[in-house]
Amino acid sequence: MMHWLTDLLWHNGQLLGIRWGVWKVVGWLGNAVFFSRFFVQWYATEKLKRVVVPIAFWWLSLAGSLLLLSYSLHQGDSVFIFAYLFTWIPYIRNLIIHRRHVAAHLRCAQCQTSCPPQSKFCLSCGTRLVAAAVKV
Ligand SMILES: [Zn+2]
Repeated sequence: MMHWLTDLLWHNGQLLGIRWGVWKVVGWLGNAVFFSRFFVQWYATEKLKRVVVPIAFWWLSLAGSLLLLSYSLHQGDSVFIFAYLFTWIPYIRNLIIHRRHVAAHLRCAQCQTSCPPQSKFCLSCGTRLVAAAVKV
């Protein structure tokens, strides 16, 4: 009954029929990390019922693409290398923009709530932020 599953997992005397080594682990780990970002983004979107891209998506993108770039450099495959050679640029740029956005938040002097940049009033207590707030 479970013979097909055993065959799938353990094929030709190897796990998943793959000849494992350090670089195979790096490559498959890169695949797993890179692929997992879709579930993270999907989960966040379903949870909020609107399309969102959580910060974890960019970290997973960066980590996965660097692992896959490492693997492709090791393999020496120019097509695969080019596919991951420049993808880190928008990932890092998005992380920088996110960090700057978080740093630009204003903290309410009354209740300490962190409010989005350019807020005029505290989201929590309604205190005017312009004079009473400090940068987070
Ligand atoms: Zn407040």
